[in-house]
Amino acid sequence: MKFKEFGIKKDILNAIRKAGYEEATPIQEKSIPVIMEGHDVIGLAQTGTGKTAAFALPILNSIEYRKKPRVRALILAPTRELAIQTFENFKKYGRYMDLRTVCLYGGAKKGNQIGHLRRGADIIIATPGRLLDLENEGFVKLDQVEYFVLDEADRMLDMGFIPDIRKINSMLPANRQMIMFSATMERAVENLAMEMLTNPVRIQVAPQNNAADTVEQKLIFTEGANKDIILTTFLKQEINSKENQELPRKDRKNAIVFTRTKRGADRLNKALKKHGLMSVAIHGDKTQGQRKDALDRFRSGQVSILVATDVAARGLDIPKLNYVFNYDLPEESDNYVHRIGRTGRAGESGVAYTLCCEDELSLLYEIEKLIGKEIPETETKWSIHLERKKKPSFDPRRNRRGRGGYKGGNKNFNRNNRNNSKDSKRENFKGNRHTHDSRKPHKERSSENRPESTYKKSRNENRTGKKPAIKFSRKLNENKRSAR
Ligand code: AMP
Repeated sequence: MKFKEFGIKKDILNAIRKAGYEEATPIQEKSIPVIMEGHDVIGLAQTGTGKTAAFALPILNSIEYRKKPRVRALILAPTRELAIQTFENFKKYGRYMDLRTVCLYGGAKKGNQIGHLRRGADIIIATPGRLLDLENEGFVKLDQVEYFVLDEADRMLDMGFIPDIRKINSMLPANRQMIMFSATMERAVENLAMEMLTNPVRIQVAPQNNAADTVEQKLIFTEGANKDIILTTFLKQEINSKENQELPRKDRKNAIVFTRTKRGADRLNKALKKHGLMSVAIHGDKTQGQRKDALDRFRSGQVSILVATDVAARGLDIPKLNYVFNYDLPEESDNYVHRIGRTGRAGESGVAYTLCCEDELSLLYEIEKLIGKEIPETETKWSIHLERKKKPSFDPRRNRRGRGGYKGGNKNFNRNNRNNSKDSKRENFKGNRHTHDSRKPHKERSSENRPESTYKKSRNENRTGKKPAIKFSRKLNENKRSAR
């Protein structure tokens, strides 16, 4: 569907054309008319589907220029990166309009943001904490808000923002139109929607919790100690190849590598550098400036490898991402869908590799249950044979070693030791076969090596289930939703 069929203003159509969009994406096709009609909306969309424009375009379309700006649209995002990204999208689509858009987020000095607010704001894009701070201090007035958007609602819940959101909601006029987007639709998100939305229209563009179809998923079973060598061998081959390096920056292949902890991200970033791979790391301990700088360098193609934790990487829009590596499996299975959704965006294709060691089988179990299928296995020189696990009857977080670290067994693993039945499928990962073990021994968990996330206890209850273990079979589809 063409954008002009929505009856959108010319200024916005020109901006869309300048952005290079030809047709509306499915989520845009479904959401834009419904939002324009004034309905509340609960949208369930995969990352990279164009959901920002799905709410930004109808909002921009309805907000008229005022000499004295008043906040008429409020968009809440869970992380500063997502807030900045949404802000940039609003600027892009509203480039030919005279509206004032202000972005508020924590981790940066307030002065600049207060300066922008003093000059007036028609649209505010904010993380909840900073917005409440500035409202408290009298710099923000929310009593004329017409549109209230909650982006990544599931993430907001995970991060414990709900009290803040309720507080913000209570400051808005009762008749504001509300739009809520979530990548997953768990019970808590449904409850929030029931509490805050009025007769919402439900919009869904892809089956729930299904990873983007354009992402090819591959699983590598390996020893924790061999993850580095698998990763560096692959990256040297794909990213550092002469062929890739000779391409113009923007066309070079790139990869995001996800680690579970901040310490893990720093360690891996150093290890990659030692191997001559240019990489940058982002995680919650980096300053806003460092995170922005790392992302800018990665987006521009100056650096082709980004090492990230889930907290820092959620919701990031990186156009043309070729590879996602799950160096560690995520503690929360939802994050698997978000991680791999970084690639294969807006029609591009991508590959997501998951490196899984024995200690992580319980997490793999949760992920495969969520996505409703087994991730196809692929072999490397460092692959081992592992059986997929039965339902875990313990909390894997308490028992699992950090970083999927080396856990006994034969360090000088010889591929002849394992089941070689899938030799024909083995990928041509070149490189030395000896074990690379640059990692330090496992340390007790401190705040640094704890997973970088805050999750509510209730979300993990299914992992501590006391029921007898059930057989992990291929009938995953049938069981897909039952445990969540
Ligand atoms: P989002 O899901 O909002 O993060 O968008 C993902 C990517 O899709 C962004 O890079 C957008 O610029 C891009 N995008 C959004 N809408 C369209 C469209 N209609 N056509 C092509 N690309 C789009």
